[in-house]
Order: sequence, then structure tokens, then C-alpha cells
Amino acid sequence: MAYVYDDQNIFAKILRGEIPNKTILETEHSLAFHDISEQAPVHVLVIPKGPYVTYDHFADSATDAEIVDFTRAIGEVCRIMEVAPGAGFGGFRAISNAGEAGIQEVPHLHMHIMGGRRLGRMLE
Ligand code: IMP
Repeated sequence: MAYVYDDQNIFAKILRGEIPNKTILETEHSLAFHDISEQAPVHVLVIPKGPYVTYDHFADSATDAEIVDFTRAIGEVCRIMEVAPGAGFGGFRAISNAGEAGIQEVPHLHMHIMGGRRLGRMLE
């Protein structure tokens, strides 16, 4: 699949500083910020800074350094927000919606990190 990145998407604008965000963590290749419409007490989005549309696009096209940075940023966010199992809230969900069937609204890869309450089953 040849992905075409739309640099007018809202997360691209956040990365360029054109739209404010509530930053939790910024690393060389990743940014984490609060979701504007949180679905749980903890709802953070972690995004790579590079122009990747979905997780498979990222996995196929990003550099090893970007992949390591993004993966570690997710772990760091779980620590900062105290949602790692065994810590404060005792668990989290990490999901990345992709494409139309996956109900992806923003076409820039993002991992949702949700926790802070017992989450319901997500099968629908
Ligand atoms: P998706 O359906 O996985 O693409 O989810 C996109 C997410 O981005 C939704 O949870 C939105 O609430 C969130 N979102 C949209 N615009 C903003 C923003 O400007 N700041 C933070 N989160 C946003």
C-alpha cells in the first residue's frame, strides 16, 4: 500500500506548533499529549514526529531510531501517567486505529493510551 501523507491533518499542525496541545512528553522523534476529548481519566495520544499515516506505514517505513523512540515514549507515558500494571491505576489500553474500517479520524499515526478506570471490553 502506497500511503500519501496529508500534511494539513491536525496532528501535523500540532507538530508545527500551529495548534496548541497539552504536552506530556517530547522526545527526539515522538510527542505525547492529552486527547482533547478524553474517553477515560487518562487518555493520551503518542505520535511519531515523522509523516506516517498508520502503524503499518510506520513499521514499514520508519527508521529503527524512530521505532525505538516511539516505543520507548509509550512506555515512558505509562510511567508518567501511572497506568502501568502494578502502578497507581493498575492497567491501561494501547490502541491505534487505522483506516476507514478502523475508524481512524486523524490520518497521522497515533497510539491511544487509556487508563485510570476499569475499561470495558472493546469488541463490537
Ligand atoms: P482516531 O479516531 O483514532 O483517529 O482518534 C483521533 C483522536 O484525536 C480523537 O480521540 C480526538 O479526540 C483526538 N483529537 C482530535 N483533535 C485533537 C487535538 O487538537 N488535540 C488533541 N486530541 C485531538
